Amino acid sequence: QVVNYAPFTLLPSAVPSALFEQAYAVQQDFNLLVDAISQNREFLEHTLASTIKVDDFTARLFRIYTQVLEEGLAQSVFLGINRSDYMFDCGADGTPALKQIEINTIAASFGGLTSRTPAVHRQVLKVLGKAEEASRLLPNNPSQGLALGIVKAWELYGSQSAVVMFLVEEVQRNIFDQRCIENELWNRNIRVIRKRFRDVFEKGSLDDARRLYIDGQEVAVVYYREGYVPQNYDPQNWEARLLLERSKAVKCPDIATQLAGTKKVQQELTRPGTLERLLPGRAASVARIRATFAGLYSLDLGEEGDKVAAKAIAAPDCFVLKPQREGGGNNLYGEELRHVLEKIKDSPERTSYILMDKIKPQPSKNYLLRPHSPLKISECISELGIFGVYIRQGKEMVMNKSAGHLLRTKAIEHADGGVAAGVAVLDTPYLV
Ligand code: ADP
Ligand code: MG
Repeated sequence: QVVNYAPFTLLPSAVPSALFEQAYAVQQDFNLLVDAISQNREFLEHTLASTIKVDDFTARLFRIYTQVLEEGLAQSVFLGINRSDYMFDCGADGTPALKQIEINTIAASFGGLTSRTPAVHRQVLKVLGKAEEASRLLPNNPSQGLALGIVKAWELYGSQSAVVMFLVEEVQRNIFDQRCIENELWNRNIRVIRKRFRDVFEKGSLDDARRLYIDGQEVAVVYYREGYVPQNYDPQNWEARLLLERSKAVKCPDIATQLAGTKKVQQELTRPGTLERLLPGRAASVARIRATFAGLYSLDLGEEGDKVAAKAIAAPDCFVLKPQREGGGNNLYGEELRHVLEKIKDSPERTSYILMDKIKPQPSKNYLLRPHSPLKISECISELGIFGVYIRQGKEMVMNKSAGHLLRTKAIEHADGGVAAGVAVLDTPYLV
């Protein structure tokens, strides 16, 4: 067993306060939107139809989704924990604009560790003789905010003896991030167990009311920190996933909400009229959401997709090519984007990708500290994430909140990749 410290910046990074506030102000709208999509079978079917023909992973998730719907849902309490990520796009006149990179609806991480980074950066600033600046760093406690969502879902499930199950990876690299949230639950006298898909396959069962049991313990809430990439699944793990989805337990997220977070859905949301259809009577929410959208384009077969592909091949540095994957390190940029698109431009494989305008933030200097790495100054860009938590009981929203933020910073030579991918590091916003 090896323990390393999580990588972090030496200094907090400047973040425009207007954009920071804008990101917080739109979070409850995004919670509503994700929840609305998760309940809209027709939208999910229509939107993912082309994707599931070519992307086996999305297709398998989709199969479980329809199977569970056809059986009839046993679950009646829904808990969403998401993180909406943004970069600050630098316009021609130098004014930065908030642009969404993506929204993560499953296993959105680093809420735990980042609850500790303000204290780190406050300390560094004090050591540098900058006590005034240190006092201006905002407190940030997603650990607590996310845990309070889990607590409320556990209460609504309504069984004192039931536990919360963290569904975790075989190799647990980010365990301390999860422990921060777990400890908040223990502090409120809620029992937490940590299990893998394999444990669920071997020891999980449903009773007649489809209550979920593992090792004889009833499970009220399943909090997925696993299950978002194909490598997390073998045939037994798929069976375990189906068992969990069929159960009455509150899944965070349920499979419909995971599908709502796919990149194909993100792209379709930018079509004129789509947000209005998904959020009827909520014009202000729609406007706030749309203001954060960058250009996103479908590569579905047909005239529209042909034009988009040709545009990207002609100017690859203006775009990002994204497959239906999570976790960082999967997107294509520049020459590689051009090369791949040229190869697949006439094949159905094209539809497993979407195309996005490349966001170009203004870089700034910082030191990125990671274990066993030399200390050197880097040109960096940052990505701001806002955590959202919501709970729906039947048709009624009973919680809808933002729950803190995450700032991640990386050197500009890396086009892609988050903290887990070994590229970005934890940071704290210094509002300017
Ligand atoms: P993943 O699901 O793998 O995290 P993302 O869409 O978040 O996929 O992309 C991964 C990383 O790639 C982001 O953290 C960001 O650094 C970079 N990236 C993604 N989209 C863009 C974009 N449109 N412009 C610039 N960089 C981007
Ligand atoms: Mg991401």
